[in-house]
Amino acid sequence: MDFRFTDEHEAFREEVRAFVREHLPDGGERGGGEGGSDEGFTRTLRFQKAMAERKWLTMAWPKEYGGLAASHWQQMLLNEEMAYQRAPSGGNMGVMWVGPALMLVGSEEQRREHLNRIATAADHSWWCTLYSEPGAGSDLASLQTRAVEQGDEFVLNGQKIWTSGAHRSNYGWLAARTDPDAPKHRGITMFILDMSSPGVSVRPLINMGDEHGFNEVYFEDVRIPRRNVVGEMNRGWYHLAVALDFERSSIAGFSGARRTVEEYIQYAQEHYGHVERNRQARLAFADRMVEIEVGTQLAYRIVHLQTRGIIANYEASAAKLYSSELSQRIAGTGMKLLGLFGQLRPGEPQAPLGGSVGQSYVTSVSATIGGGTSEIQRNIIATRGLGLPRG
Ligand SMILES: Cc1cc2nc3c(=O)[nH]c(=O)nc-3n(C[C@H](O)[C@H](O)[C@H](O)COP(=O)(O)OP(=O)(O)OC[C@H]3O[C@@H](n4cnc5c(N)ncnc54)[C@H](O)[C@@H]3O)c2cc1C
Repeated sequence: MDFRFTDEHEAFREEVRAFVREHLPDGGERGGGEGGSDEGFTRTLRFQKAMAERKWLTMAWPKEYGGLAASHWQQMLLNEEMAYQRAPSGGNMGVMWVGPALMLVGSEEQRREHLNRIATAADHSWWCTLYSEPGAGSDLASLQTRAVEQGDEFVLNGQKIWTSGAHRSNYGWLAARTDPDAPKHRGITMFILDMSSPGVSVRPLINMGDEHGFNEVYFEDVRIPRRNVVGEMNRGWYHLAVALDFERSSIAGFSGARRTVEEYIQYAQEHYGHVERNRQARLAFADRMVEIEVGTQLAYRIVHLQTRGIIANYEASAAKLYSSELSQRIAGTGMKLLGLFGQLRPGEPQAPLGGSVGQSYVTSVSATIGGGTSEIQRNIIATRGLGLPRG
């Protein structure tokens, strides 16, 4: 089988490289996690705006919604190259799953109002995802945040947790219970929430990498207009499941991982003499590179399904599972390579590789939790992929 891309694709890849060189002359950012600084977020927005001007932010979306109707392979090449160059993606949920979900189940009014704003990276178009609650994570259908119908509005009360980027978002993609008497999967509705609504309060949660990425979000008598109901009332669970498929399809990033391992190899060659003589490092690098190759094929499989109009489901879980666990193995390989120096954090003068190794060792722990834990992905693969009965 020939896995090479066409000359046209390779020319496009070159165009992307030139774009990144122009807009990130000092190169992209290493390590980190989702909780970047305010300065970093401003840089992300600036870069995304430049991408949006070329319609690259949403290149596979239909033209009527601000895309280029580009092929899914072209989108994949763009994502790969951006990740390899460490361009700031900033976890733009509007682009990754809210927009695609609105295209499928949103009203015409919602599509008109939001899709072009997401595609053009307009001001005030940053989204967060309000699913998890203190008592509802893996068992998301148990969520208790209530939206009670009152005339032409819904009144929202409850709490969400682990909400990434809520402190920067002006819109929330929200799941709330609208029918407490129905079986738990059948009483949930999806809403668009204006995060500046009175009664919404956002409190920071700092992760163990000392980053402010996620938050707690509280709702006290928040009023949501009826036109912000997405899709059918009480069918939110099914709409949310599709959005989760989009989310997991977009998580797998293997070209950024390749860049990291290449950097480790270069570091080892420069600092420890010939890697060829260090058996342990050689084997670890070889293992990681083989795994990256396997992961790349899992990600390509999702694209192949998308080209056939299929939304990847257990296939996306497989790629998400593999990518998140691999990110931890790669960080572990980096820590072994650097020894005690690996503990030095970004900003420390003697930190090798900008302190990125220790930082990703700590922040990659959450990769196997966010977007659904590894156990949940394995359950999905076992039941929907392999047809095994529920355990
Ligand atoms: C970095 C990060 C970002 C996040 N961002 C968001 C966000 O933006 N919006 C949002 O809504 N949520 C977000 N989350 C929350 C995330 O979706 C939940 O943490 C996740 O779904 C797990 O839920 P939980 O934390 O309640 O753990 P629990 O569900 O309580 O799980 C605890 C443990 O039990 C295991 N377990 C649970 N059920 C089963 C089962 N049926 N079979 C086998 N094992 C099981 C789990 O795998 C886990 O090991 C984020 C989390 C992280 C770490």
